[in-house]
Amino acid sequence: MGRARFPDIPGVLRLSLNMPGFADIIINVEGLSDIIVFLGTAGARFVVTKQFLASGGAWLNFGGIEILLDPGPGCLVHSAKRKLDAAKLKAIILSHKHLDHCGDINVMIEAMTEGGWKQRGEVFLPADALEPEAVVFPYLQNYPRKINLLSQGKSYSIEGISFQTPVRHIHPVETYGFLFQTPRHTISWITDTRYFDGLSHHYAAELLIVNVVLLEPRDGVDHLSVPEAREIIGEIRPKLAIITHFGMSIWRAKPWEIAQKLSQDTGVDVIAARDGMKFDLARLDGL
Ligand SMILES: [Zn+2]
Repeated sequence: MGRARFPDIPGVLRLSLNMPGFADIIINVEGLSDIIVFLGTAGARFVVTKQFLASGGAWLNFGGIEILLDPGPGCLVHSAKRKLDAAKLKAIILSHKHLDHCGDINVMIEAMTEGGWKQRGEVFLPADALEPEAVVFPYLQNYPRKINLLSQGKSYSIEGISFQTPVRHIHPVETYGFLFQTPRHTISWITDTRYFDGLSHHYAAELLIVNVVLLEPRDGVDHLSVPEAREIIGEIRPKLAIITHFGMSIWRAKPWEIAQKLSQDTGVDVIAARDGMKFDLARLDGL
């Protein structure tokens, strides 16, 4: 099998055994894409409770493996409106049990399992989302095929998509961010946390998504601010960064203008997520 017959083609993986008599293995993954739909971009109390921006988390489709992240209030409505079918979900992942992240987790478990008639899908959440006060109703806890507890430094797998929870965040409840690896891309998502030294070291990836709630750091509020996001983006230097989960101060200051300024300051492409934005990671491939 000559190399010339199979030049490097995007979307085609070639595994060479380098042994006489054994042909190379060509796996055609053409047509598979990694897509993130931002169901909502609201963060913290007021933007969520007033619904100045939508809330509801993100719908990940990594090569056909559909995963729901942080189903906050509005998730069911916004996903159904976009014809995203919860019965196709392989997993629901919860970063932490705050209401703006888990408000719709029960109804989404019910939707994923078709009312509990089909025991399917997995749920991943921190231990304190089940005990002492469960945010998943006890009667629903047997609906998914498995409930997995997240903990610091562990890796998990959902049908060929792996993800890690590299470090426990500083937040009033047990909270993790995520590092996803698909056969095509690496994506890190820094969820709610107070800034801490070394935070960025855990989240190197091609695409970096950061929950940025505050315009400026505020004492006693365990959330990231714009100057801290600038530092993190500048240290990680991903191909592209997306900011989301906006609090009131950012919403007023226009997130897209903040993103533009962050791009100028860091030299990294930064965009602000918008409600309903569908981001195709193929956009990173030429960068
Ligand atoms: Zn939170």
